[in-house]
Amino acid sequence: MTDMLHGLMQDDFPLTLNHIRRRVRSSNFGAEVVTLMPDGSVERSTHAQVAERIDRLARVLAELGIEQGDRVGTFAWNNQRHLELYFAIPCSGAVLHTLNIRLFNEQLTYIVNHAEDKAIFVDDSLVPLLEKLAPSFSTVERYVVMGGGDTGTLPNALRYEDLLEAAGPGDFDYPEVDERQAAALCYTSGTTGNPKGVLYSHRSISLHSSGTLMTDSTALSRDDRVLAVVPMFHANAWGLPYGAALAGADLILPDRFLGAEPLANLITAERPTLMGCVPTIFADLLRYADAHPEVDLSSLTNAACGGSAVPRQLMKDFEERHHVRIFQAWGMTETSPVATYSRPMEGEQDDAYWDDRAKQGRPLPWVELRLVDDDGTEVPWDGLSTGEIEVRGPWIAAGYFREPDDEKFDSGWLRTGDIAAVDEKGFVQITDRAKDVIKSGGEWISSVELENELMSHPDVVEAAVIAKPDERWAERPLCCVVLANGAGTTADQLVDHLRDRVAKWWLPDEFAFVEEIPKTSVGKFDKKVLRGRLAEGTLDGRVQV
Ligand code: AMP
Repeated sequence: MTDMLHGLMQDDFPLTLNHIRRRVRSSNFGAEVVTLMPDGSVERSTHAQVAERIDRLARVLAELGIEQGDRVGTFAWNNQRHLELYFAIPCSGAVLHTLNIRLFNEQLTYIVNHAEDKAIFVDDSLVPLLEKLAPSFSTVERYVVMGGGDTGTLPNALRYEDLLEAAGPGDFDYPEVDERQAAALCYTSGTTGNPKGVLYSHRSISLHSSGTLMTDSTALSRDDRVLAVVPMFHANAWGLPYGAALAGADLILPDRFLGAEPLANLITAERPTLMGCVPTIFADLLRYADAHPEVDLSSLTNAACGGSAVPRQLMKDFEERHHVRIFQAWGMTETSPVATYSRPMEGEQDDAYWDDRAKQGRPLPWVELRLVDDDGTEVPWDGLSTGEIEVRGPWIAAGYFREPDDEKFDSGWLRTGDIAAVDEKGFVQITDRAKDVIKSGGEWISSVELENELMSHPDVVEAAVIAKPDERWAERPLCCVVLANGAGTTADQLVDHLRDRVAKWWLPDEFAFVEEIPKTSVGKFDKKVLRGRLAEGTLDGRVQV
């Protein structure tokens, strides 16, 4: 056999966030980062100023004893300081661990201890939430509070601005970072059991960031003003902060002000061209803008929406009434997250065009996608046959952090748990979900956990929870329950039973009292049958709470 002839290119040049950081410092002339403040004003910094603070922060991390590979948690909203951490932590060789502030206390405790976070950087507005949990964290040595507010009862608390001040100006000598080194960690609760850690590498984030600059994807460019509403603790805010930094685009961050009114005012004043968020927030914004003629959203010529299915009418209403174009994306924490994007060829905007806009779209370049049926056989792309989506590519997870889960992977392909059909043009359309979780307003509800809590009620013999489509929340849990013979337990009593056991927003608003839960051949609850009955309108015994 002859020796392989290597290309003569700089193939050792690492794809790392240090490249993006260097661009923020010197290539993004004129670009700014804008953060919304509590009084409605904004704080502005140029990319160069942000880069200077990133250097200071890197020096602070070194002084705090953060070493390569250490996990550093953030408990923060979308603001400039969080952006600084997005760069300083991974560029120093440590791992940025964005904690989802919306998880339950037990889940947060589990995640921090599982990741073995060494330090946590927290927004002052979130100190009250974190200080209650701090005693349950076993590895956290210090807390750094961002903003001028109270440090509460957090032990070993330091102040971010004091540390940056003391660190002084000047370049920081960043260590060599390998492109395969871990850069960021984000736990997903969209699985059964404990949340699972998705550990992004410098390479995967670098390539995904380049992906956000592709025209058939988010199409982010230097001309954009990017409003990242999707939280920075959820899959790196869909890669928008890194993409904006790579492109040299302006980045607008709403901090914790995610209501329709502050967002509408921010959009009217700051004129973003691109915005990313879940359908629930877009729907709120539409209602608000319809009722307030002074609101002007028309700068948003390229909004990205995903996280759950985007209603066609929502996109049409925005386009017709507010000149806002919303494009749908699909992905998951494990896919960095953007994997498909729906941008049908522009032409006549007839029904066929809108049919495609309402689909989840075509896989991005570098993302390979296939559909697989229950027997493991590949399903054809005919627009009708359905199967589970499996994906592979350079920004797709290959495993979970310290948690082997072989079932989730199929010979190098990630099993997504989403069921879809793909048409001959390659447009994916999600039809169902195989995983046992419900997505309500962008956050996960575990149907298994709800079932267990329901079955702990003495009158409940069987319980199977399925997702019910909901206009506002995308999905809500519907609990199918079999009661013990003669028991007259009501829906209200079951909700009372759940009240102390699950988060308030998990509480179901509908039950179906059924004779029996259908079972598969191996005796498992067959939720496919229940979902089918729900869709056909033949699910009996339904009671609203
Ligand atoms: P997460 O990991 O929390 O971002 O959730 C990912 C999951 O959200 C996917 O596996 C889907 O079930 C769902 N999802 C994301 N985007 C869409 C979309 N455009 N349409 C339907 N479901 C979506």
